[in-house]
Amino acid sequence: MTQSMEDFITDAFEQNYERIRLETGRAVTPNIKEAAREQVLLYYRRMRDVADGVTDTEVKLTLPEQRTPQQRKFTLEGVVDIVREGDRTTMYDVKTHLDADAAAGQLDQYVQQLNLYAHIWQGLRGEALDETAIIATRPTRELRQALRSGDDRVIDAAILKWRPCLNIPLDEHAVEDTVQRFGTVVDRIEERHFMPPAVEKLKAPIRPGARQPFGTAVCANCDVRFTCDSYRQFRLQTTPGMNPERVLQDAMNEYAASSEQGQWVDANMETLNRDRLPDAEDIDRGDV
Ligand code: SF4
Repeated sequence: MTQSMEDFITDAFEQNYERIRLETGRAVTPNIKEAAREQVLLYYRRMRDVADGVTDTEVKLTLPEQRTPQQRKFTLEGVVDIVREGDRTTMYDVKTHLDADAAAGQLDQYVQQLNLYAHIWQGLRGEALDETAIIATRPTRELRQALRSGDDRVIDAAILKWRPCLNIPLDEHAVEDTVQRFGTVVDRIEERHFMPPAVEKLKAPIRPGARQPFGTAVCANCDVRFTCDSYRQFRLQTTPGMNPERVLQDAMNEYAASSEQGQWVDANMETLNRDRLPDAEDIDRGDV
């Protein structure tokens, strides 16, 4: 039963990917696609009870007509899954870009976000809610290491230990503050204020008591890190023997070494070639 369901999920994943590729004209590299497929299957294996129990999927929540501190109008939107079991209702927000360790490090922001969604669900839709949680589907480092081992027993043990679901406490008081914080971000974007945080924030632990600093946990995955002054300062100040030339050289090396760059270009060239409209030469050759 599980195997046939996993086959079904794999087929649905392929169809979904093709549809998105055709709709957007964009492709991803084979390794990224494989990582995404693996993430979907792991999610099903670990969170099967929740996945099977979802009663309302991709529920869109909207809070319109909000005002920023500068009186700009904005609308807040979110998409959640709902599980109703008996008289209990749980709201889940699936985070595909995060693993559970990273999510735990930024839990405050999800407490605010989920309480906002809960406010919309309960207050505007008038429906009861008992619990909220986020599901961080990206495998943790420990799980990724187990997967790389190729040993089924190690993998099964790591999947059992994996805790991708984090409960979020319901707190109605967080809502007003959250709307205001979103509004402040809207104002900053509209006013073109895109300054990165000071280097001190990058050097500080991502959460109290954590060993990883923000600059490693977050910035290492940021696409614009090599043009970010705070990140360059972080590398300078935290890597022994570092100097500005070496920071620049490291940036070039990392960029050049990234095999994904080439694969990404290849994948999208393939999409372009496959999807392009016929030109005069194609017509002459009778290729249409
Ligand atoms: S590297 Fe990216 S995430 Fe880090 S501070 Fe700079 S802009 Fe922000």
